[in-house]
Amino acid sequence: VPSGDCRAIIDRCFDLTAPQVTRYKNGKQAAASYTFDDGYSSSARIAAIFENKGLRATFYLVASAVADADWAFWRGLAAKGHEIGNHSMTHQIVMSDPVLTNQVLDTEINASQRVIEQRLGRKPLTFAFPWHQYSDRAMAVAMQNHFSVRKLDIDDSTYRFAYFDQEHGRTQAESLQLVNRQLAEAVTLGGWFVAGGHGVDGDGWSPVTSQFLIDHLNYAQTFSPQLWTDTYVNVARYRQCRTQVRPVITTASSSHATVRLSGSFNPAFCTEPLTIAIPVREALRGQVTARDAIGAAVPVSIVNGTLQFDARPGSDVTIQVSGATR
Ligand SMILES: [Zn+2]
Repeated sequence: VPSGDCRAIIDRCFDLTAPQVTRYKNGKQAAASYTFDDGYSSSARIAAIFENKGLRATFYLVASAVADADWAFWRGLAAKGHEIGNHSMTHQIVMSDPVLTNQVLDTEINASQRVIEQRLGRKPLTFAFPWHQYSDRAMAVAMQNHFSVRKLDIDDSTYRFAYFDQEHGRTQAESLQLVNRQLAEAVTLGGWFVAGGHGVDGDGWSPVTSQFLIDHLNYAQTFSPQLWTDTYVNVARYRQCRTQVRPVITTASSSHATVRLSGSFNPAFCTEPLTIAIPVREALRGQVTARDAIGAAVPVSIVNGTLQFDARPGSDVTIQVSGATR
């Protein structure tokens, strides 16, 4: 707990030499994303379960398998904040096969992305390979126009991929216990839990029940003070952009400082805010406010001994301290 009175002198109130971008959004220590492949009809039920909890999921579509009449449904989900990702053109090609031509890979990956973009009115930003199968060449094609590819493993020992299916000879209770344990591990390690499922309640490939999903999400909510749950793309973007920027602080006066996330970030992908935390040095007996580059108020909070607020890469946030008024 900070002591003293910083007398509304900004570099006495906050340690301006030690700003950080928090590991996950809003200072959360871990993240969870839920992905459902192949666009089964029970996706409507899945989406409703997430929406009832104020959450959003990711749905990976097979472009050529979506009926004309169904695109309006997917547009509606996208408008509500769910992610619609790309899961290939046909789902008929095993993309680890070394004899595949570049043309086939281009059709399965890039042409599929264009079809989904035309039908949806927004470009799918992430890709998921059918059966998680890919070669280095297929991965390179996927990364030409997508920002991230969902994988079983990434170069991060805190990553946990969980199957939401009924395979592997487990009962539903055993499966639930396993995925809950994987989530708890990711939270403890400060990592990213990614679930991969299909449909629910008898629909699609090896479906779990909607009760399984509800029971798991209820368990996940017990971690909500530490856990950020969002779509695959939103978490992938935060993780990627966080490594490409650092907060740079310029003191403008004794009561003002400007913070900017600088670095060689990808401006096409790093379009969403990251959370900045600045350690509190001494208690402020007044108030702290923040404004963005066009003067709009930015919410601030003091959490765990830090001042926290959001900023978009490349744009300024000005923080100001003022003395107590009476
Ligand atoms: Zn699939």
